[in-house]
Amino acid sequence: MSYVQALTCKECGKEYPIEPRTVCDVDFGPVEVTYDYQKMKGKVTRASIEAGPRSLWRYKDLLPIEGEPKAGLHSGWTPLRRADRLAAELGVKELYLKDDSANYPTFSYKDRVVSVAMTKAIEFGFDTVGCASTGNLAHAVAAHSAAAGIRAFVVVPDNLEGGKMVGMTVFGPRVVRIKGNYDDVNRLCSQIADKYNWAIVNVNLRPFYTEGAKTHGHEIAEQMGWKLPQHTVVPVAGGTILPKVYKGYKEFIQLGLVDDNNPVIHAAQAAGCNPVVTAIREGRDLFHPQKPDTIAKSIAIGNPADGYYVIKDVTSSGGSGESASDPQIIDAIKLLARTEGIFTEPAGGTTLACAIKLIQSGKIPSNESACVCITGNGLKTVEVMDGQFAAAPSIGAKIGEFDELIQQLEEQRTTNSNSKTTASGV
Ligand SMILES: *Cc1c(COP(=O)(O)O)cnc(C)c1O
Repeated sequence: MSYVQALTCKECGKEYPIEPRTVCDVDFGPVEVTYDYQKMKGKVTRASIEAGPRSLWRYKDLLPIEGEPKAGLHSGWTPLRRADRLAAELGVKELYLKDDSANYPTFSYKDRVVSVAMTKAIEFGFDTVGCASTGNLAHAVAAHSAAAGIRAFVVVPDNLEGGKMVGMTVFGPRVVRIKGNYDDVNRLCSQIADKYNWAIVNVNLRPFYTEGAKTHGHEIAEQMGWKLPQHTVVPVAGGTILPKVYKGYKEFIQLGLVDDNNPVIHAAQAAGCNPVVTAIREGRDLFHPQKPDTIAKSIAIGNPADGYYVIKDVTSSGGSGESASDPQIIDAIKLLARTEGIFTEPAGGTTLACAIKLIQSGKIPSNESACVCITGNGLKTVEVMDGQFAAAPSIGAKIGEFDELIQQLEEQRTTNSNSKTTASGV
């Protein structure tokens, strides 16, 4: 039994059956899964959700699958952390981190969307699954398809980080590198989906894939004790996660699971690829595509498929767009590691750097609660930290040499203590 109603065009409202489909035949608007929330009332409750598995599948009633989950049985339900040490440095009262750098099994938010898309691909009877990816998606598709025993084809730009390439290749998918950027990869994948009848998770299974991202928002609300943060800062690449976190919040409000506090959603992008943030700041509904140039490769999408809806949701929620330069991203990665013990990749550094700027500009007032979405793990992109730290001292295994070193370090510490650097670094 499922509560799924239809695939509904976001523009004209025309309804389609549940099938692999991306856009409406009439106006080419994207189609989205819609549900019978009326029927859920009294059945989908805090208690029914709390009785579910400790994975994203606790929100199965709000996901577009028909039978039992067939992938990602341990994905989701990542930590929501109250970040008091970071909050103190930034001068805010109530700061939370939703930490998908700990997602299972591939350490990014993409485990959520792929869990749903892979289950759907199996339900539809596809024998091959693929994706157009900036790295993390390919990593997740490769791992989840290996676990499900399905053939995978992943298509990526040819400039990805070494850790990401090894991370996806080890699972045995067919990996194809494209001489071009993500937008070139995506265009090719649309043609592949049509021609080869494969399940390209973020192309012909996109409406199902994107629904998985709602669970990031569902978990924030449940883990905050069934309430919503006043502000949520969400990174934007193709524009999936931001509108879906918001949809997840709105679903919980509609079902009466949380109070409506008019949650404000802010968009974070790297300065080297910020089409959506630029449009928000200039008060435009439409963005101008850009050619990405940033270390935040996993969110470097110059022509985001759902950018239009990001702009709409951020604006209608009363939020803002913010972007961060590469050095600010690096500083934020270090700050998060140093204060909270979380090592995120540049996408997470971007989101935190933007949150800091939103706090500094008063767009996130210091006495209001805020959640920062950390969507990926720094161990996959260690090369961006090259040259950031002095080499650690290397000494012989002798206590005398160690004593000498400690004495030197102690002397350095006293000389430096007067010229201590500022807290946030951004
Ligand atoms: C994919 C990705 C995002 C956001 O992508 P959307 O397409 O906007 O949903 C954010 N962070 C990381 C680490 C990602 O891999």
